[in-house]
Amino acid sequence: MSKADYYKVLGVPKTATQDEIKSAYRKLALKYHPDRNPDNKEAEEKFKEAAEAYEVLSNTEKRKQYDQFGHEGPSMGGFGANMNMDDIFSNFEDIFGNIFGAGQKKKSKKSGPTPKRGQDLAKELNISLEESFLGTTKDIKVYRYVSCDVCHGKGSQEPSSIEVCKECTGTGQVGYRHGIFMYTQACPVCNGEGFIIKNPCTKCKGQTRIQQYDSLKISIPKGIFDKAELRIPEKGDAGTFNGPAGDLYLRVHVMPHPTFKRVEDDIHCSILLTYPQFVFGSQVEIENIDGTKESLKVPKGWQIGDPIRIKGQGFQKIRGKTKGDLVVTPKCDIPKKLSASAEKALKEYSDAIGTQINENESDGSIKSFFKKFLG
Ligand SMILES: [Zn+2]
Ligand SMILES: [Zn+2]
Repeated sequence: MSKADYYKVLGVPKTATQDEIKSAYRKLALKYHPDRNPDNKEAEEKFKEAAEAYEVLSNTEKRKQYDQFGHEGPSMGGFGANMNMDDIFSNFEDIFGNIFGAGQKKKSKKSGPTPKRGQDLAKELNISLEESFLGTTKDIKVYRYVSCDVCHGKGSQEPSSIEVCKECTGTGQVGYRHGIFMYTQACPVCNGEGFIIKNPCTKCKGQTRIQQYDSLKISIPKGIFDKAELRIPEKGDAGTFNGPAGDLYLRVHVMPHPTFKRVEDDIHCSILLTYPQFVFGSQVEIENIDGTKESLKVPKGWQIGDPIRIKGQGFQKIRGKTKGDLVVTPKCDIPKKLSASAEKALKEYSDAIGTQINENESDGSIKSFFKKFLG
């Protein structure tokens, strides 16, 4: 099923500011809120769609990704794919407050540890121009939290040893009175967690996760641009108490190449031709960046420096199925040395078209050129 464009969903232009996006989402969310549209599947879908669009467009990183790759982008893993109605409602309340009031739960006593989402991580990755042309798979190491394999992210090998903190009765906060004022602070007994692990896991010490180098295989799509960012879902830090993992953002740097250069989706290079090849035209072979041979037709009377395009031999377009072109700029190869017969022929040619040349510069060097003047 193809997804609707997030900007269209919210009814905002691509240039919309964060405030415009927020206000558009607010309108839609209120209109389609399930409390106002009981048992209306269509409204529920619209409500979800708007939440998903807002989730992506309100986040600078995700919005950038979306602008670059769209829904079908590489390694996206689907925007908002793991949002459920609970997430949507809790996001909604975070943004607009508890508008509907009734039946909504307040933050209160915890029954035990609350799973928390892990942090997003960022990493830089260098690839060659060939790799961006062909696409590649990279092995990378990321220092990240992974869920503890001894307690399976529970914090203890005996989950029954996790108890609600008696001091704060699980709220994580304790209050005290100072004069007429009531203050609250994080509970000193449980450090604000609301629970205590009596027998913490021997490996993670009750942290539920451990930090280590993790090896990942990353697939780099064909045609990726320099400075593109890939979101690798759930390869950031593992959450605590089996909360969802954060995402890994990979910023890709495409290293410059000595002979080829990318311009938009085209690939540019140059080729050396002789003067007669420009005059008479020629059919020459050229090697593309991936080593494939391309046949290049130089038309008769072609001008030095005028580029010749070979259609469809450039970079894979990241959005869409087409490719850019291979753009070859022919340069003239001026020989430093000529055979006696070639030199004779060239001088005769010069005479025939009536141009003045330095007849005695047989070795053509700068030194002999100056000798002529300096004696
Ligand atoms: Zn553990
Ligand atoms: Zn406590």
